[in-house]
Amino acid sequence: MKRSQFIRNACLSLGAAVVLAACGGGVSTTPSADGGDAAAGLWLVGTEPAFPPFESQDASGELVGFDIDLMKAIGEQAGVEVQFESLPFDGLIPALQAGTIEAAISGMTITEERAQTVDFSRPYFRAGLAIAVAEDDTETTSFESLEGKTIAVQLGTTGAEMAGTIKDAKISTFDSAPLALQELSNGNADAVINDAPVTLDAISSGNIGGVKVVGELITEEFYGIAMPKDSPNLEALNTALVELIENGTYDALYEKWFGTAPVGTLPEAGF
Ligand code: GLN
Repeated sequence: MKRSQFIRNACLSLGAAVVLAACGGGVSTTPSADGGDAAAGLWLVGTEPAFPPFESQDASGELVGFDIDLMKAIGEQAGVEVQFESLPFDGLIPALQAGTIEAAISGMTITEERAQTVDFSRPYFRAGLAIAVAEDDTETTSFESLEGKTIAVQLGTTGAEMAGTIKDAKISTFDSAPLALQELSNGNADAVINDAPVTLDAISSGNIGGVKVVGELITEEFYGIAMPKDSPNLEALNTALVELIENGTYDALYEKWFGTAPVGTLPEAGF
């Protein structure tokens, strides 16, 4: 054990905030109500596991998906233990702000607005919003044709924000993307605006029936892993992510979950 590590661990084992303060310097004091302890090499990572193929729960309740595998690989690469915590999507940023989690990976689009309250890793996935409609709908073919329609979206998402800009649209908001897609499938909404990879996966896996994607993608978006503002862990996160992109692990995971190689290179920044 390196001396600095020893001091760090010794400081932590004493536990009291006052002692932590006295240890100062390299000791991260990121608070965590739920046991995440960044300084001891444990990151509690929030995710909303209803967004396949990025994150979902398998039959045994195990978290699976591209994001889950990527975050586990990042943990190994950075030498930290990663522990996932399931949270509602719109609760992730508040949890980061409160310091109860060290990171969030949840197909989260890097936006300028979110970047005011949290820090993002470099982009790790290129996505975009798609319009889904009923299979027999020949009228709704583009973003423009959504005017006055009933649109189902997931709370707190970029899709919900985009739907909010459509004239005279009636917006129905759901806690998860599958619930919004189900509303469309049931005939209770005219369209869903949601991340293209997730909507396409729901259709191809047969999870949602009678639904198709129409028109062009309405946005290009990049996903990032979010951390609290000025997190001492951001650099380690980015270093590990770049290493995984460079050593082929990223491509292998992409291939595993999307069946193809990634298209194009990722930009350095999300907006
Ligand atoms: N990418 C979208 C967003 O960030 C949706 C994310 C999600 O529902 N997990 O708003």
